[in-house]
Amino acid sequence: MTLDRRYRKLQEDIKAACGKAQRDVSELTLIAVTKYVTIDETKKVKALGISDLGENRVKEAQEKIEAIKDVAWHFIGPLQSRKVKEIAEKIDYFHALDRMKIAKELNKRRSSPLNCFIQVNISGEATKGGVEQEALQAFVESLSSLENIRIVGLMTMAPHSTDESLVRGVFKELRRCCDHIKSLELPHAPCDYLSMGMSNDFEWAILEGATHLRIGSTLVNPER
Ligand SMILES: *Cc1c(COP(=O)(O)O)cnc(C)c1O
Repeated sequence: MTLDRRYRKLQEDIKAACGKAQRDVSELTLIAVTKYVTIDETKKVKALGISDLGENRVKEAQEKIEAIKDVAWHFIGPLQSRKVKEIAEKIDYFHALDRMKIAKELNKRRSSPLNCFIQVNISGEATKGGVEQEALQAFVESLSSLENIRIVGLMTMAPHSTDESLVRGVFKELRRCCDHIKSLELPHAPCDYLSMGMSNDFEWAILEGATHLRIGSTLVNPER
């Protein structure tokens, strides 16, 4: 399938899931995760009309941000503190905030507030990053003095599984956490958004209230 066909198929699948969830497609932001492909391929993704692109490595992100303008750039992977200064001013969203050290470094290196999602480790898998659910509220509150950190939402990665109730349970729990943080009405943490859903589970994420889908392989990877 060509990129164009894959995009049309993806749009149809998203639309169908929205229909099932009785949600409007306009509530969703599709982030095309371009980490698998070259700058030229990434330009083709943008040419489809996709306005939000995601990368998870600093070096590749820097190169693509330099080469491709007029899109919103989402950094979706973990950041090391010594790399923060190289990327902090260039991105529009950071999806994997889970440590004070990184928050402080971002705060220092930004000249304006950065939209951040806090990554929450709902599934409890040791290999996944993210703050534990029990520590989430204290972490959010501890960020209040960092004027350049704005918590726009929460992010999680579900286990790689075909078990619908397991995966949806993880998304449901993230939504509950999000509603809780939102109810605190903290000025630095409006927490309106849910970054969840990847190639294998975006339909379930839509059913559970996702607002930001991070989709890579099913869109950009021809081998799939
Ligand atoms: C790679 C990646 C994605 C995209 O995953 P696909 O399964 O290829 O759609 C989403 N989120 C994060 C954090 C990633 O690293």
